[in-house]
Amino acid sequence: ATPMSIMVSVGRAAQLGVLVRNGEALQTASKVTTVVLDKTGTVTQGTPELTDLIVLGEKTLATTVNKAELLRNVASLEQHSEHPLASAIITKAKTDGLVLVEPEQFTNHQGKGITGLVNGLQYSVGNASLMQQLHIGEWQSCETLSEEFGRQAKTPIFVAVDKQLVAIMAIADPIKTDALEAISAMKSKGLKVVMLTGDNQATADAVAHKVGIDSVIANVLPEQKQAKVIELQQAGEVVAMVGDGINDAPALVSADVGFAMGQGTDIAIESADFTLLSSRLMVINDSLALAKASMRNIK
Ligand code: ADP
Ligand code: MG
Repeated sequence: ATPMSIMVSVGRAAQLGVLVRNGEALQTASKVTTVVLDKTGTVTQGTPELTDLIVLGEKTLATTVNKAELLRNVASLEQHSEHPLASAIITKAKTDGLVLVEPEQFTNHQGKGITGLVNGLQYSVGNASLMQQLHIGEWQSCETLSEEFGRQAKTPIFVAVDKQLVAIMAIADPIKTDALEAISAMKSKGLKVVMLTGDNQATADAVAHKVGIDSVIANVLPEQKQAKVIELQQAGEVVAMVGDGINDAPALVSADVGFAMGQGTDIAIESADFTLLSSRLMVINDSLALAKASMRNIK
């Protein structure tokens, strides 16, 4: 490819709302065979909302925790998390008029949840894997409920106080309006489409089903996202990875071409070859088509 023709393509990409970090990536993009999509903020809008908060039977409570107090304390902890789910919890607490407090202690468990001390109580907030790690066994008694949330494409979040399960919450994140269209366009071009997410299997499956993705890899930690991309490459695929989060950064670097959502975290953008200024998924198809067209012109 001549430098001139690449520059022209980079300009065209900008008109589509795609910032190209380096011209070489355009050449690689013309050869992509598999598109790997992160779920939260990539397939979904990344504007999660807390839809359910169920306080479990009082007999399991070490202390009497009411709903408002629980929400206030969880939201107070989540103020220290950068996860998109955290903002859903904080927003709900503030909408309910709750005044957040400063936790005495906070720990982030990447890809699992958070723990910390609020008003002298030890909170653990996160997925089943965090509950398992902390030996909070009773989460299993909520499995039916959590699977039901999963079927509704909601993310279930467990809350334990002083190592006793006290509540389960659900967070819904609407699917992007053009996701189904964009994904069927990818498939009709012969591309394989894979969803890769740290969220649980049931929720991931429900979202994938809505947008026509058949291949779902769920429950993956950030390093595992990268390992999955490498596995696909070793199987002969040329991989485009699309993501927005801190947890997508290593996978974006390892992919043959990385696409970051423009409203994503800085580290995702720095790790990617392309930055999508629009949140529409269709722009990925436009970029791949542009890459193909520009390589044809060059030959
Ligand atoms: P994703 O690929 O969906 O962005 P992550 O790897 O960031 O997922 O997180 C995986 C799971 O860990 C989330 O679906 C959620 O269940 C749990 N989790 C992570 N961070 C938090 C948090 N701050 N509060 C509650 N749960 C969290
Ligand atoms: Mg994400």
